[in-house]
Amino acid sequence: MSAFAFQINRRRFLATSAAATAGTFMLAGIDPRPALAKSGIPEQASGYYRFNIGDFKCASLSDGTLNLPAEFLARDLPKEKLETFLKQYYLPTGTISSQINLTLIDTGEKLVLFDVGSGPNFQDSAGKLPDLLEAVGIAPEDIDAIVITHAHPDHVWGLIDEFEEAPRFPNAHYYINAVEYDFWNSADILTKLPLRLHSFALGAQRNLKPVADRITFINPGEEFITGLQAVDSPGHTPGHLSFVVTSNNETLLVTGDALTHFIASLQHPQWQPATDLDGNVAVTSRQKLIDMAATERLRVIGYHFPFPGVGNIGREHNTYRWIPDAWNWGL
Ligand SMILES: [Zn+2]
Repeated sequence: MSAFAFQINRRRFLATSAAATAGTFMLAGIDPRPALAKSGIPEQASGYYRFNIGDFKCASLSDGTLNLPAEFLARDLPKEKLETFLKQYYLPTGTISSQINLTLIDTGEKLVLFDVGSGPNFQDSAGKLPDLLEAVGIAPEDIDAIVITHAHPDHVWGLIDEFEEAPRFPNAHYYINAVEYDFWNSADILTKLPLRLHSFALGAQRNLKPVADRITFINPGEEFITGLQAVDSPGHTPGHLSFVVTSNNETLLVTGDALTHFIASLQHPQWQPATDLDGNVAVTSRQKLIDMAATERLRVIGYHFPFPGVGNIGREHNTYRWIPDAWNWGL
C-alpha cells in the first residue's frame, strides 16, 4: 500500500466513523462515551504517534501495557540496591508498568509492522492493537509484511485471530530469524525450559504455525526489504533480531527487547533482566546496540519504553540516557 493510500484511509475514517459509531450506540440506548470521573476528564485514549525516517512514514502503535514485578529489571541485583534505584527514578517498588510500542513503517512500496503485540490471551492490559488499527483506519489486510524480533508472547501472540483461528493479517508475508523459529518449534523445547515458560513455547508454536508457509527466514546483516536490515542481538532469546530502517540518510534502530527499560537498560546495561534467557549474551548485545545508537546518533524505538518510545540515546557520565521525542503534531 502506498503512503498516499495510508493517509487517505486515515482521513476517511476520522471523518465518518466517530459520528457513525456514536449514532449506532445511541439508537441501541447505550451511551458510548467513557464514564467520567468527578473531574470530568475521560480515560486515556491515544496510542498512536506519527514520525518520519527520511522518506519513510512511520508510526508507533500501542498494544497497551504489561504489569511486571519490579525485580524483573535485574535478577542478579540485591533487593536493597534495586529499591534505591527505583526510588531514585520515581518508579514503583512493587509492580512496574511496561509499555508495548509496535513500529509501523510505510516504505512507499510496503506497509511493514514490527511484531504484533500479545492478542487477548496474555495480560488484560495488553492486546489493544486490533482496536487501535480500527480506530486509526488501518485494515489488517493492508499490512504487507510482519517482521518478528522474537517469539515471546507480547510479540507474537497477536498473529492469529482467536475468533477465526486464522492469520490476523491475511495478506502479510512474515520475516523471522531461523534460529528463533527453530528454537521455539524444536521437538524437545519443553525439556530446555523451566515449567513457568512452557506456555511461552506452546503459544509461540500455536501462533507461528498458521503463518508457517508464508515465512521467509532472515539472517543478521541481511537487507530483506529495501531499507530494512536485520541486526544480530541474541540473548533475550536465542534468535532475537533488532533492525535498522534507513531512508534518505536517516536511520531508526528498532531494538525489540535487547533493551527493555528506558532507564535501567541505559544506566545499567550490565543488569540482567529476568526475561533474558541467556543473561550474559544479552548484556553483550545490549551494550553493542546502545553504543551503536549513541555513536551514530540513530533514532531509536524501544518496544517497552514509555509510549511512544521514540527518541535518542545520549552518552552521559560514562553511561547513557534516554532522550525521548518531544511530541510532534506537525507531520
Ligand atoms: Zn517484550
